[in-house]
Amino acid sequence: MEPFRLMKMGMIEMICGPMFSGKTEELIRRLRRAKIARQRVIVFKPSLDNRYDEIQIVSHSAQRIPSIPVEDPAMMEHCLKQLAFPVEVIGIDEAQFFDNSLIPLVETWANSGIRVVVAGLDQDYLGQPFGPIPHLLAIADMVTKQYAVCVLCGAPATKSQRVLANHQKTQSGEKVLVGAHDAYEARCRGCHVCGVDKAVTVSRENDTTAV
Ligand code: ADP
Ligand code: MG
Ligand code: ZN
Repeated sequence: MEPFRLMKMGMIEMICGPMFSGKTEELIRRLRRAKIARQRVIVFKPSLDNRYDEIQIVSHSAQRIPSIPVEDPAMMEHCLKQLAFPVEVIGIDEAQFFDNSLIPLVETWANSGIRVVVAGLDQDYLGQPFGPIPHLLAIADMVTKQYAVCVLCGAPATKSQRVLANHQKTQSGEKVLVGAHDAYEARCRGCHVCGVDKAVTVSRENDTTAV
């Protein structure tokens, strides 16, 4: 039998699920605990995701933690090389927006003893596997699949429904589309429509406390 190795062991932790399932909240919770344990933590997010803040990751429930926006995974590696001390924990949010070059990097970091916590959508709005997430799920040491609440029936939601948002009521009370903005709703498999559907929830583009 292999002797128990006391060396520091890295790992890949995945947090996946649809939009509104609490992936960012869970990522923040884990990273805060690592900081309480005085571990050196660094957090990355794709620079295109600046919905709420340029340099923080922010959950739909307005929890936030500082992060470094990067254009691509190579920029993460570049940032890590600039640091005076090696990090112990790397957090990545919205990882579905990065390309597959993220996969060997995450694996190399974990193999070198770093705890890598990755949050991202497992499926796009059509229900198809999203970017590097499926591959990362396969090679991860720990996988957490989160559920949102279906806005139609209240069941656990595993899908992100793309909807036409920005509806406004006419005088007769009928809802009409006033903008071309896309928005998303959490839906269960039974309520999910492949493609774009009418919104059930009112558009809350600027509302970070949507509950
Ligand atoms: P994710 O990163 O997975 O999109 P967040 O962590 O940003 O999710 O937000 C999760 C929070 O979103 C929940 O705690 C809740 O306050 C809010 N929320 C809004 N709509 C829903 C929904 N349909 N189901 C579950 N939570 C929702
Ligand atoms: Mg999120
Ligand atoms: Zn449903």
